[in-house]
Amino acid sequence: MILVDLHLHTTFSDGRLTPGELIRLVVQRGLQVIAITDHDSTEGIEASLEAAKAFPELKVIPGIELSTDIPGNEVHLLGYFIGADYRDPEFQRALVRFRNAREERGRRMVEKLANLGVHVPWERVKELSGGGAVGRPHIARVMVEKGYVKLSQEAFTLYIGRNGPAYAEREKLTPMEAVEMVLQLGGLPVLAHPVEVDGREKIIPELKEAGLVGMEVYYGKYTPDQARYLLGLANRWGLVPCGGSDYHALGTPGEPGPGTVGPPMESVEALFALAEKRRQAVQ
Ligand code: AMP
Ligand code: ZN
Ligand code: FE
Ligand code: FE
Repeated sequence: MILVDLHLHTTFSDGRLTPGELIRLVVQRGLQVIAITDHDSTEGIEASLEAAKAFPELKVIPGIELSTDIPGNEVHLLGYFIGADYRDPEFQRALVRFRNAREERGRRMVEKLANLGVHVPWERVKELSGGGAVGRPHIARVMVEKGYVKLSQEAFTLYIGRNGPAYAEREKLTPMEAVEMVLQLGGLPVLAHPVEVDGREKIIPELKEAGLVGMEVYYGKYTPDQARYLLGLANRWGLVPCGGSDYHALGTPGEPGPGTVGPPMESVEALFALAEKRRQAVQ
């Protein structure tokens, strides 16, 4: 039975459940430890912790997922245990900057789509984002609503995937900078979905050197073979094997739900021990 899910999104980024709805769902599914990891936002943390108060058996790790970039590649970096310091004004200013860049880039994608004859009203994209971090899934949903594609997956395959004709870049951190940012908050940096990272075997030791403490192994729809391969890498570099469903509640066929995949409790214990050590170090 899966008890841990360390990768979950809410309406504060591109997830479709509010923190309250997500907390109720994970409790219903019997999860004991979760992490809230919205894209470039910590806005859902407080509401999640608040909602979790009704369920003392559930531990909620305050987290974030930062998008970063290296040439020709995209790397997502998770930060766990940023609970103590995420209100730091400098950090929050950086997040606002990232979210503004997301909007600006979203607008550019909508323009590119228009040039391709796909008319996506920007107001609707904004509306779906509900004031949270705008992401491609919001654009994909509007494309479904307007009947341009049947499933949001198709929107990515045909238009807004990384190599799609309507994809647009935005300014991002480097993975190193993201690791440093999380460390500065007293948090634990963890590499997200490494199968999606080209050149992972080169970048993992570099990030480890910079302070990475874990990497996702038990993730989304990764096969047992992929998980075995990633576990080998995690062990080789002394990284805590992490993971989770990356649930967005998109309702797409085959979307892994919370509690369908996740790391063992030993990983959580290792993370809590590291977090505790850091807390003591700064006291
Ligand atoms: P963004 O942060 O705007 O670049 O969007 C990234 C999000 O889009 C990811 O967290 C996924 O939820 C989703 N996504 C990215 N690539 C795909 C894909 N090929 N198919 C479906 N969803 C995707
Ligand atoms: Zn997402
Ligand atoms: Fe991601
Ligand atoms: Fe994610």
